Amino acid sequence: MARRWLDYKTGAWVQWCPGCGDFGILNSIYGALAELDIDPTNLVVVGGIGCSSRSVYYIKGNNVHTIHGRAIPIASGIKLANPELTVIVTGGDGDLLGIGGGHFTALGRRNIDIAIFIYDNAVYGLTKGQAGPTLPLWARTKALAYPNIQGSVNPLLLAFAAGYTFIARGYAYHVNQLKGLVKAAIQHKGSAVVDILQPCPTYNDFMTQEWYEKRIYYLNEEDPTWDPVIRSPEDMKVKAPRILEKMLETGDRIPLGIFFQDLTKDTMEERLEKAMPGYLRTPPAKRPIDVKGRITLHPFKIFKDKLLET
Ligand code: SF4
Ligand code: MG
Repeated sequence: MARRWLDYKTGAWVQWCPGCGDFGILNSIYGALAELDIDPTNLVVVGGIGCSSRSVYYIKGNNVHTIHGRAIPIASGIKLANPELTVIVTGGDGDLLGIGGGHFTALGRRNIDIAIFIYDNAVYGLTKGQAGPTLPLWARTKALAYPNIQGSVNPLLLAFAAGYTFIARGYAYHVNQLKGLVKAAIQHKGSAVVDILQPCPTYNDFMTQEWYEKRIYYLNEEDPTWDPVIRSPEDMKVKAPRILEKMLETGDRIPLGIFFQDLTKDTMEERLEKAMPGYLRTPPAKRPIDVKGRITLHPFKIFKDKLLET
């Protein structure tokens, strides 16, 4: 029997403030996992530190709550050790783009098949509302004594520059549309990121539900011919200017949907298979171990031998 979204819910008490956008994101993830019929025993959710990273306790899987900013390298290690797992990362804008910013860009370069969900509320909610990396210049939220004097980072442009092959933006209270984006990100083969605009009613009294809902619109509703899929280098030349124009659009109009999906690049898993044939058949998690618990075929030795041959 197909799985239902309730099959992914743990019994843990959800410790978020009433009205938090995180609830909408969590429900979208449950729905996407159910529609993709992902076996929870093959699912790994990795979180750093922050309100959003607590999602690892609310979704059934072999999940890991890590340290601040380090969810991506830990998720990368898990996926490369066993590429058959579905690996997703849940984290905030502060965790993934501030403290973990270096890891965020490194994942794009590697194109490991992992989906990153940024619960983007533009503040550090867990620590009482300091300015996060996506809070606009001169915005003032209630925890700030003065308006924000730092500029904001654009997660979509950062992901594009880093080499992510799937880039989307969603809105936390539009659960159905967001479920579609979460599904597409998980199904995409390669590093995927969905920047999810997430009202934080407790600390962000500037970017409120009303503020967002006056501005957001969907790319494919405004333009039914919108096609973000890159199938060739020629496609990239033709489509990139319009994609970048939409990623740059801010202020009174905030586009949502899939901005970019590049089907032309190898994943890290495919690159490793080329560098050391057999990797996908016997990745580190499936290698035999000796009586002392050491793996008998050392992946770095195989990699080095193969490189020396070529
Ligand atoms: Fe949500 Fe903000 Fe409360 Fe954290 S502080 S649970 S982000 S409303
Ligand atoms: Mg945040």
